[in-house]
Amino acid sequence: MEIRDGTRMFSCPFCQADTPHTVRAQKDNMYAVVCNQCRMGSLVTGEALRLHHLQWEKELRQILSSLSDWSGPGGGGDSHNSPV
Ligand SMILES: [Zn+2]
Repeated sequence: MEIRDGTRMFSCPFCQADTPHTVRAQKDNMYAVVCNQCRMGSLVTGEALRLHHLQWEKELRQILSSLSDWSGPGGGGDSHNSPV
């Protein structure tokens, strides 16, 4: 799977968050990415990006499955907000 120009999830070493990073440049197996949150640039390898992306997808899947687990029978949406 090739990494093309676009956005990759990566754990930013500056703001310490899993944020989307815009891929700005690529040289061999190194990618220059810019954090969409703090706008700081990082240099990462293709493997690191791909690995993080896989982990992110796995986490996302877990979150989604726990969400569908959570909204079981009955569901929500019957909270009546009476205006004050
Ligand atoms: Zn950042």
